[in-house]
Amino acid sequence: MDEGTIAAISTPLGEGGIGIVRLSGPDAIRIASGLFRSPRSRRLTDAPTHTIHYGHIVVADRVVDEVLVSVLRAPRTYTREDVVEINCHGGVVATRAVLDAVLAAGARMAERGEFTERAFLNGRISLDQAKAVLDVVQARTTLGLEAAVDRLGGRFSDALDRMRRSLAEILADLEIEIDYPDVDVDVDAVLPRIEALSQRVDVLLAQSEGGRVIREGLTVAIVGRPNVGKSTLLNALLAEERAIVTPIPGTTRDTIEEEASLGGVPVRWIDTAGLREPADPVEAEGVRRTERAIDRSDLVVCLLDRSEPLTREDREILERPWDVPSILVINKIDLPDRLGDLPTVRLTERIEVSAKDGTGVGDLREAIVRLLLGGQLPTRNSVLLLDAWERDLIRRVGASLRQAAETARAGQSADMIAEDLRMAYRTGGELQGIDVSESILDAVFERFCVGK
Ligand code: GDP
Repeated sequence: MDEGTIAAISTPLGEGGIGIVRLSGPDAIRIASGLFRSPRSRRLTDAPTHTIHYGHIVVADRVVDEVLVSVLRAPRTYTREDVVEINCHGGVVATRAVLDAVLAAGARMAERGEFTERAFLNGRISLDQAKAVLDVVQARTTLGLEAAVDRLGGRFSDALDRMRRSLAEILADLEIEIDYPDVDVDVDAVLPRIEALSQRVDVLLAQSEGGRVIREGLTVAIVGRPNVGKSTLLNALLAEERAIVTPIPGTTRDTIEEEASLGGVPVRWIDTAGLREPADPVEAEGVRRTERAIDRSDLVVCLLDRSEPLTREDREILERPWDVPSILVINKIDLPDRLGDLPTVRLTERIEVSAKDGTGVGDLREAIVRLLLGGQLPTRNSVLLLDAWERDLIRRVGASLRQAAETARAGQSADMIAEDLRMAYRTGGELQGIDVSESILDAVFERFCVGK
């Protein structure tokens, strides 16, 4: 790690109420103090830790901004180094000017995630918690936020700690057997302990699957010819989540995308244009977009309007071989049935609704949850936010444990069992950020924004 004092604007850029310039490092307080003038000519270098000071940032006798400065001395800070936070209130220009002033006074511009990286390198948080900081910032639903906060609180690191401690205990017993064959250690008793650990790993993996869904979200496409009620249905589905529906920018009139949570899982709902033979280039583009939207969906809702006879376009949609689970939804059941007989289709489920008055929409939501999530909505206690790298390492820990159990069952020597267990122990350590390579650390912290 490059020592030295780093600085960055830690609040989002824009015309917010305040902007915060954060400094961290051995010279943070001295640098800030050199630019700070208080009415009572206090010097920040004399300030006790965890105090806030009113004054101005002054460069070459010119006042840059009126500020509140927090002085936080190591080690009880985010990075465990001396930290200074300058609360500016002049909008983008003044905040930038303050940042420029601290950079000119000797601080270095922080890289992405460097504050959090220092917190990790200085031992204040685990690698897992550093990633959780990112999950907190990027949470897309309340449940996602809760899971991230739990992770930040050490839920995963604690589980890992416990697992590695149990592993170390088993290893210690085996080492005794290896080093002192005269001492009577019951090698058979080791097997159930390994199996119990292996089960714990399976639970972690299962929970991480829920976490993956929460982090990555799911996509549902609503398909049907014009006027069958796609937008009405989308609105009905989103009705309960209205408050947190986020329009997705960049959508065209061909497809409308909105993101809203389905029981804590972020779902991207796509209201598609038709799939009929295009009459002109503009329409052709719409069809292509619809095709692309369908390609990246996890589930398709095919909509029919029962108040009108089945059309050719309806038929084409029904007979399409969908690659993902699909639900046939018959809409407008508040109107008389003129649909006639339906062809035999391979759609996974059939549900009748009135998008207009909401009848059956709850059933549709349930069917979607059942098909996408196996009927189980993730809950705060049942999910674990892990990234692909972590899931892979956990799988490897599991594989080593199973191998160890296999070795023990085959009646092999303590030495052989210990070898598999040591492998599991090392992989677990990698997960905790012990002995992780520089490149993996870089990859983790690069995903942060500057100032975090
Ligand atoms: P889209 O073109 O597929 O998006 O269809 P819209 O959602 O714009 O709906 C087309 C028309 O059907 C609108 O006038 C809606 O009010 C009406 N509509 C949609 N769903 C229902 C329903 O369940 N019952 C009745 N009676 N009308 C509906």
